[in-house]
Amino acid sequence: VILEDLKKDPEDAAIQARNVGEKILASIEQPCLLGEHQARSSASVGIAIFGPHSGSAQTILQQADIAMHCAQSVGPNGMQFFTPALQFAINARSTLVEELRRAAGANQFLLHYQPQVESNALIGVEALIRWNHPKRGILAPAEFIALAEETGIILTLGNWVLEAACEQIVAWADRKETQDIVVAVNVSGSQFRQRDFVDQALAVIDRTGANPGCIMLEITESMFLQDIKEVIGKMNQLKSHGLRFALDDFGTGYSSLSYLKHLPLAQLKIDRAFVRDILTDPASSAIAQTVISLGRTMRIEVIAEGAETVEQRDLLTSLGCDRFQGYLFGRPMPLNEFEVWLPAFVGGTSPFSHSI
Ligand code: C2E
Ligand code: MG
Ligand code: MG
Repeated sequence: VILEDLKKDPEDAAIQARNVGEKILASIEQPCLLGEHQARSSASVGIAIFGPHSGSAQTILQQADIAMHCAQSVGPNGMQFFTPALQFAINARSTLVEELRRAAGANQFLLHYQPQVESNALIGVEALIRWNHPKRGILAPAEFIALAEETGIILTLGNWVLEAACEQIVAWADRKETQDIVVAVNVSGSQFRQRDFVDQALAVIDRTGANPGCIMLEITESMFLQDIKEVIGKMNQLKSHGLRFALDDFGTGYSSLSYLKHLPLAQLKIDRAFVRDILTDPASSAIAQTVISLGRTMRIEVIAEGAETVEQRDLLTSLGCDRFQGYLFGRPMPLNEFEVWLPAFVGGTSPFSHSI
């Protein structure tokens, strides 16, 4: 909607525009009859005030669009004006996208490794990406993974992670203490959905010479919302080359369990949220218990994520879970720290290893 002949003063013009916006929202909000059913619609309005020097039509439409999305994110039937603060947030976002695009080529990503243990032994590590941002220092995935997903950068990034993990597996292959470490790699939905994901993954393994038996791909329940047959097909192809699959954040996503028996899974990861509340919330411990017995019946390994205290570990052990990944045993660490942690853990001098 373009409003003409608004008052010259921007504040007056804004009031006029707001009145029109409210009228539009009120009329769209009116219930209407569809057959016998009463239906309701909602809308969101974004407003950009412009004058002769406000830039191109495209810029103004973009500003209104930014404001509209901002209104939408607050809730239905909202209205929002475009402001310089909004522009600032949008600019910050596009700067981050630019930086993220350049980061892979500029060698700014690195992997941290978090130990996974069973009884007294290290069984694997989860490779967790970090971004060594030139101005902001080490950033956790929460700061950039969502943006990487939205922009498709996740595809390059995911490929980099798999390659780096494979290179680490190769580097660990010639030492007795490290040669059996299984490296778990997170695979995002869009990465897995790529038509040639299997070929890409196999090419990386080929190029690096990594032992596929040392690779665990972590996928999430959200991937099963698509064509499940295709997902199973891809998993089986990779499995036939020796790779294994873990189901990450299990219990937090898609609630249908019927797909489980069709999937070639090696491991279920009990989500951190259930482990966190396991001592205080009966529902959380019931869910953990269910996952553990499910794993036992289906012969799938179960590992508990986010074990932070001895009490949590003991309860999980009593429920029949003996694999753990959590701060109690080790935080995600850069390679050099992990290389110090490992002998201390094996030798029993690590602050975490006495109680295992
Ligand atoms: P995730 O795959 O579920 O990884 C486990 C997260 O839980 C990690 O967070 C880890 O640091 C944290 N964690 C483990 N033990 C504990 C504990 O005892 N207490 C607490 N409070 N936290 C614990 P991080 O490294 O921040 O990663 C967050 C998420 O980002 C990951 O969740 C994963 O979904 C995603 N991510 C990380 N690396 C990659 C990657 O290379 N590719 C993709 N697609 N996603 C990744
Ligand atoms: Mg994971
Ligand atoms: Mg997880």
